[in-house]
Amino acid sequence: MKFLFYQGLTNRFTLPYLIHSAVAEGFPWSVFSNPGSVQTDAGDIFILSFLTPEAPVVHTLIAELKQKFPDNVIIAGGHHVSGNPQCALNTLGIDYAVTGYADAGWCGYVTAHVKERGAQKIIHLPEVESIDALLPCVDGLSCVPPLEIQRGCGNACAYCAAGTYHSVTQRTRYSISEYLRYLKKRGYTRTGFVTPQAFPETDDTSKDENLIEWLLDETNKSGITHTEYGIFPSEADPDISKKNIGLIKKYCSNRIITIGCQSGSDTVLQRLNRRFTTEDSERACAYVAEEGLRPVADFIIGFPGETAEEQAATLSFARKLVLHCRARIQIHYFIPLPGTALEGQMPSALSSEAVRDMEKMRSDGCLVSDYAQHIRDFQIIKPWLEGYHNTVTLFKGDILQ
Ligand code: SF4
Repeated sequence: MKFLFYQGLTNRFTLPYLIHSAVAEGFPWSVFSNPGSVQTDAGDIFILSFLTPEAPVVHTLIAELKQKFPDNVIIAGGHHVSGNPQCALNTLGIDYAVTGYADAGWCGYVTAHVKERGAQKIIHLPEVESIDALLPCVDGLSCVPPLEIQRGCGNACAYCAAGTYHSVTQRTRYSISEYLRYLKKRGYTRTGFVTPQAFPETDDTSKDENLIEWLLDETNKSGITHTEYGIFPSEADPDISKKNIGLIKKYCSNRIITIGCQSGSDTVLQRLNRRFTTEDSERACAYVAEEGLRPVADFIIGFPGETAEEQAATLSFARKLVLHCRARIQIHYFIPLPGTALEGQMPSALSSEAVRDMEKMRSDGCLVSDYAQHIRDFQIIKPWLEGYHNTVTLFKGDILQ
């Protein structure tokens, strides 16, 4: 029996973590991108892990796999499936939906479940106390992706999956050192780190409060000449301190820091259950600029129920950050993610004024993201998402046991 891992558009960096566990547990594995290139034997298991934007493509892929390999089991996991496993199971045509994070030992856990062929088609992976054992280090894979150093987030923003189904867990220094040694063995001189919050503020005394400073220093000492930290999608919250900006300045090669502003309207921020206000975002961008780095202010537009006035407030606030802090602006169009408070809610339409403003910001060079492409991408997946959420009762049970 071997695991056949799908390599798609949204899992390039997570695949090595999944495969690391297969290697450690002694399971044979291979990677495929399209069904035409797959060689299977009886009992082989397809593993698909993907994010919401790729879900329609994966849906089509599953139908092809089912037709071509009717005797092989198809298992899907990742954020999209974990957020609403019942919906994924009913809609995608998979045999099993896996929830939670694939930590060390997940291959054996899943295989045992499949061998029993139990009626329970949702497999809840157990939540682990430590994420140390799972490293994205696999000989034979061309990519050693950035290291996940924190899982989960203490906040619970309505649109975000990070805070919804995992308690906050930090990787320890020991495990980080192991990763750095592996990078050295592979001859890497550049790396980055993945975290929902670049500088988590916590009162939890069990957390290593100097972890980030140690991490950046240790990375430099290990021979890495280009370390990137505090940039999208592992951006800093608006409560970033000057001390932490100084750490990036001292140790990292990026001269930008991304600040997760999300909206320029405090009413919207409140509705989203954000812990931060526009005042916090403005202060953070000012701090970054004062330290001689460039803030990249990150926003989402089109939140469900967002009015034309609220969109205008976001764009006017973005302009203010450009003028006062030399900020660059990133704007994404909202996508509802399974498992979040905004699951199944479609984005609001953009007002013509908002589109005009963003066009102007693009031509001025201060808006660096392609909002129009985001909208085109969303238009492609919108009918699929609507059908997906209409077909079943939304699953809102406890998905981690
Ligand atoms: S948006 Fe950031 S702060 Fe909010 S829950 Fe997600 S990771 Fe945490």
